Amino acid sequence: MIKCISCNKIIPNTEKYSRFLCPNCQKTEIIRCLACKAKNISYTCPSCNFTGP
Ligand SMILES: [Zn+2]
Ligand SMILES: [Zn+2]
Repeated sequence: MIKCISCNKIIPNTEKYSRFLCPNCQKTEIIRCLACKAKNISYTCPSCNFTGP
């Protein structure tokens, strides 16, 4: 299941989301829903604790 890393909501298959590797450790995939992306809610990488917008 795909979960938004910022708001912890499960993203349904029909919804679009943004997915990228953590810019700091390049290991962990960061998944954010469009709502969090639009609001620029920050995320924290679970592996390295990097926080980004
Ligand atoms: Zn979200
Ligand atoms: Zn990281």
